[in-house]
Amino acid sequence: MTLTTQYPVLEMLYSLQGERYHQGKAAFFIRLAGCDVGCVWCDVKESWDASKHPVLHTSEIVKAAIAHPGRLAIITGGEPTLHDLTHLTAELEAAGFETNIETSGSNELTGDWDWVCLSPKKFKAPLPENLQYASELKVVIFNKHDFEWAETYAKQVQPYCKLYLQPEWEKAAEITPLVIEYIKANPKWELSAQLHKYIQVP
Ligand code: SF4
Repeated sequence: MTLTTQYPVLEMLYSLQGERYHQGKAAFFIRLAGCDVGCVWCDVKESWDASKHPVLHTSEIVKAAIAHPGRLAIITGGEPTLHDLTHLTAELEAAGFETNIETSGSNELTGDWDWVCLSPKKFKAPLPENLQYASELKVVIFNKHDFEWAETYAKQVQPYCKLYLQPEWEKAAEITPLVIEYIKANPKWELSAQLHKYIQVP
């Protein structure tokens, strides 16, 4: 992977983290453009083609981040591991940020991370070596067969890794009751409920 100081940016915004362990915390989201995973239910398909989005230097990204009081930076996408994130995380950390990433793990994981959310996708599997870095595993449940698939990944992460099941948003009414019952029967898992969509923040 090529070292870079510039990144295609889909969107940057200051909001609340709506999911999982850091749910409810103020955070600066950096959504990098480009994705080669191709989930059928993707809700940010506009992120897939990186060439359609502006390329920003790390200094511009950090400048935008430090304009807000929160010091949690969440790098997401698209699929952020398409880019070498060494420089971006170094500069964010130098500016006092905690660095979180949300990734499918489908490419080499670069950069220095305080927290790694690994969300495996059926459409392009994570690299096996990335599973050891997961602070939390998030599996989106689209149908009842996905529970078994989720368990195959739960076996591959570190013992301290937190485990979350997230109903796919468009099917939430149908899937959430199944997820609730599954977690009650398998309490090592927790529910990831996408609070930001319920409280209607971006
Ligand atoms: Fe969309 Fe994320 Fe899947 Fe890429 S990995 S297709 S951005 S949901």
